[in-house]
Amino acid sequence: MEPYRKRAWAEISLNSLEENINIIRKNLLPQSEVMAVIKADAYGHGEGEICHKLEQIGIKYFAVSNLDEAVSVREHCDNGEILILGYTPPEYAEELENYNIIQGVVSLKHAADLSENARGKIRCHIKIDTGMGRIGLKHYNTSDCVDEIEKIINLQKLSVEGVYTHLAVADSDNEDDITYTNSQIDYIINVYNELKNRGINLSHVHYLNSAGACYHNNQNSTLARIGIIMYGLHPNYEMELPYELKPVLALKAIISQVKVINEGDFVSYGRTFCAKSSIKVATVTVGYADGYSRLLSSKGEALVQGQRCKIVGRVCMDQIVLDVSNLADVHAGEIVTLIGRDGEEIITADELASLYGTIGYEVVCGISKRVPRIYI
Ligand SMILES: *Cc1c(COP(=O)(O)O)cnc(C)c1O
Repeated sequence: MEPYRKRAWAEISLNSLEENINIIRKNLLPQSEVMAVIKADAYGHGEGEICHKLEQIGIKYFAVSNLDEAVSVREHCDNGEILILGYTPPEYAEELENYNIIQGVVSLKHAADLSENARGKIRCHIKIDTGMGRIGLKHYNTSDCVDEIEKIINLQKLSVEGVYTHLAVADSDNEDDITYTNSQIDYIINVYNELKNRGINLSHVHYLNSAGACYHNNQNSTLARIGIIMYGLHPNYEMELPYELKPVLALKAIISQVKVINEGDFVSYGRTFCAKSSIKVATVTVGYADGYSRLLSSKGEALVQGQRCKIVGRVCMDQIVLDVSNLADVHAGEIVTLIGRDGEEIITADELASLYGTIGYEVVCGISKRVPRIYI
């Protein structure tokens, strides 16, 4: 473990990452290769180390959300193929070329403007909006869509290597949603086949995200854009994963003080917690400025000595307070697990997320930059 100062820190298990990737690869059909989604600093896990590890275990494709991320990932990985999933303004065309980055193209206009600004050739995949309603070519029939794609392909300074789309409800087991997902998949496959009929053979067509890979696995997606499951979390906490994965990230802090308070004593801002009897409380060195949400006030639990302890009162910027009455012997300096395993107990980012109405994605992405990432 690297040296760090003990206050609040995140432990990232590169072994768990590797195990997750192995399981995911084994379950994808042989026609699909993993494209590791490492946007948002690898979902808060730290893109540098995550990228190195992934390259080591043979991952060749990476996806990010924007040009800044792409340039930064390029510094860690000389050879990987890097796709920008989101929009890049055409004035940055030259940078795309210089860093050998593949751009997601959202419309004919976007493509034409990129081509206009390019010196050599810009590599791209064309994004098709098949029902996510966010970005991409939007047409009510595939032949119009293919017409627009052909116009993009005919632009001088673009090199089109693939088409892709994004599934909106692949994480749902509702029948309507399953039908919706199937229609999104049919649409992009039809587009790809129609291109073939017109003599255009692209290397890639892709639409699987984590939820797609878990619940709609099929062989037509040449790449599977895997994000959340690589980090060991659920696309949807309510749905079981088809295989067991390990959360990669743990969030830890230490106890700064332990004391006994009496009936009628208050804890933290707003006096929202009042002791109903004498209890033992421990103050802990983590708060919402570390990304531990204030919405967990009086709701969250943390692990001390392998036992669940409840948060009392409001989460502050840098500190929280736990009820540790169930622990006989507890002292300043002991480690507290906010996310992760301690003995038999585990608190996952997904569990925390469900406590305050969000998703595990937001919990891990929200761990702030003042929290050092320690790789184990
Ligand atoms: C973020 C993202 C992904 C990865 O999603 P997960 O649910 O984390 O697997 C895939 N494709 C696109 C377009 C994305 O924006």
